[in-house]
Amino acid sequence: MAKGKSQYCTWYCSACKCANDVTYYDKRRDDEIVKELSKFCPECMDHVMHRRKDTKKGSGN
Ligand SMILES: [Zn+2]
Repeated sequence: MAKGKSQYCTWYCSACKCANDVTYYDKRRDDEIVKELSKFCPECMDHVMHRRKDTKKGSGN
């Protein structure tokens, strides 16, 4: 696992607020990271706008 340069983030559905995806990105390219993304939500059964929330490794959620 890459430590220090990778930031984990969780994508939350903007409609039902459930966490549907976890990704990670390179901190050094933070200006290229989108904060909102349309993803498929299994709860809503549709594509919904998801909001990114950074998660620290080892802190649960
Ligand atoms: Zn949803």
